[in-house]
Amino acid sequence: MTDIIQLLPDHVANQIAAGEVVQRPASVVKELLENAIDANSDTIKLIVKDAGKTLIQVIDNGKGMSPTDARLSFERHATSKIRAAEDLFNLNTKGFRGEALASIAAIAHVELKTKPEDEELGTLIEIEGSTIQNQDVTVTPTGTSLSVKNLFFNIPARRNFLKSDNVELRHIIDEFHRVALAHPDIAFVMYHNGSESFNLPKSNYRQRVVNIFGAKTNEKLVPVEEETEVLKISGFVGKPEFAKRSKNEQFFFVNNRFIKSPYLNHAINSAYEGLVKDGSYPSYFLKLTVDPKTIDINIHPTKTEIKFDDEHTLYAILRSSVKHSLGQFNIAPVLDFERDDNLDTPYNYKNRSSSTPTIEVDRDFNPFREDRSASKAGQKSPSFKKEPVAHWESLYVGLEPKESSQEHANIEFESDADSGSLFSEGTSIESQQTTYQLHNKYIISTIKSGMMILDQHRAHRRVLYEGFLRYLTVEQAVSQQLLFPLALEFSPTDMEIIERLKDDLERTGFVFSVLNNHQLEITGVPINVSESEVSMILEQLISDVEQEVPERSFSATDLFAKSLSKSLAIKTGQALNKEEQVHLVNSLFACKEPSVSPTNKVTFITMSVDDFDKKFM
Ligand code: ADP
Ligand code: MG
Repeated sequence: MTDIIQLLPDHVANQIAAGEVVQRPASVVKELLENAIDANSDTIKLIVKDAGKTLIQVIDNGKGMSPTDARLSFERHATSKIRAAEDLFNLNTKGFRGEALASIAAIAHVELKTKPEDEELGTLIEIEGSTIQNQDVTVTPTGTSLSVKNLFFNIPARRNFLKSDNVELRHIIDEFHRVALAHPDIAFVMYHNGSESFNLPKSNYRQRVVNIFGAKTNEKLVPVEEETEVLKISGFVGKPEFAKRSKNEQFFFVNNRFIKSPYLNHAINSAYEGLVKDGSYPSYFLKLTVDPKTIDINIHPTKTEIKFDDEHTLYAILRSSVKHSLGQFNIAPVLDFERDDNLDTPYNYKNRSSSTPTIEVDRDFNPFREDRSASKAGQKSPSFKKEPVAHWESLYVGLEPKESSQEHANIEFESDADSGSLFSEGTSIESQQTTYQLHNKYIISTIKSGMMILDQHRAHRRVLYEGFLRYLTVEQAVSQQLLFPLALEFSPTDMEIIERLKDDLERTGFVFSVLNNHQLEITGVPINVSESEVSMILEQLISDVEQEVPERSFSATDLFAKSLSKSLAIKTGQALNKEEQVHLVNSLFACKEPSVSPTNKVTFITMSVDDFDKKFM
């Protein structure tokens, strides 16, 4: 047999390898910024056009490269940062694989201009798809400028795979934030499509956080400082009351490198246990310093995941230092950290007078009596007959003869409009339905064939969702004017999103004007929204829009209705009175698609008497 194995040509090998390092424009941004930092720059400028699809340029004032180094820098495994395998265990630089520039040059048009301080003239290199087009002497300031144009020009499939500009830009900004947070002692500027998006002067860490996330961040930061033999922690955590609806203010840096660690993230969340609501995430900006020998950064090509020698110890130290800080700043309600939450009196019972428990005994009860079908329970239940639960409408046949589902729909929207709450106190929905709330989470309701259990949060989400869709597409919602305008602060990126959604927001009843690139003035809110909820609703909306996946038949209206209903739906844990329970059940079944939540999760299940009978066999 003839030999068939061949070595891949360099440019093919480079393209394949590039796929690992460069997933999207943001990956290029990360690599170039890191190179600039490794070159000891103290001012770094990032210029981006069309979310990086057209241009990504990083200009630094670092140590620059000699003509030979400039040329070599594009070779695979060419690095100035490690010389021997041992160096891998003592890393103080961001890069070390010598792969980034080779990969980027394989899939884009790259122009490098660089000059070390002690040279008069610099070097220019132009390279396209791994082929050098031009090398020349050039006049350029000390430092390095690297431009990457037309990313993925020779891999159309990858280019088509890129998301919308908004999404790609979001990723770039995320990378920019991560690098800028890790290095407050370096000045960073970022431009997008010709306008300045961020200008971050050299500062201390706190100022850097505030410069990125807005002035209002300052009051919510609680410092964390801890030094042990294995680990130094410094940075800030957010006060619990400022917990956000999205996870985009959660940052871990290990030896000044941004990392993702679900395990350590868990340590922080557990320190906040009982202090933040479900679905809210505390902010944190934490820097861990460990001996480089105790970590392995080598496990992931983009270097965002690292392995610690002793994760368990880190977990414990991290958790207790965060708890300690929250406690010291009087944020945790008590300092007794081991307290069992289950021992706390539920609020409902706190102010109630105690009463002697009583026991009711059915003195006539005789377990050995033959005819048990005549027992009380049996009589109450309308029918034991088996009935297939094919469609929800059949569930109520025989229980609610007076009201049609169309009438339910009217009741819901009217009560919304005039009471400001979904469950208007005065509604006269008398019902023979028996409902019961289980663990402030499920509503149990008797139906013809047995019982139905609905998830209160999901059910309410469905109800609100269909309501909002109506407002957004058919009729304009009613707005209530605020007595005093409400000023809210957002980051410039978030403000862009809000402006984009202005029309939709106004149709649901929000009235606002944009004061400048970080302030909003709200003068009207939808009728069923209270002033205190506004900020949370908008944050949720921004976070949902940021995470949007555009190619999946994306509709802004739908996303919007989903987001608002998520924010406003009654939560698990909320007690509902009988009337509210019945109203929720009825409103759900007046919906077009009652059986699933807006995110396609089951809203209710049914259990037939037959099912019970089987269990009791
Ligand atoms: P790595 O960063 O892993 O060493 P890269 O491919 O990113 O690999 O860069 C290759 C080499 O090019 C670096 O080791 C460094 O010597 C040089 N280099 C890259 N960018 C710069 C820069 N902005 N300033 C000075 N030298 C640079
Ligand atoms: Mg590098």
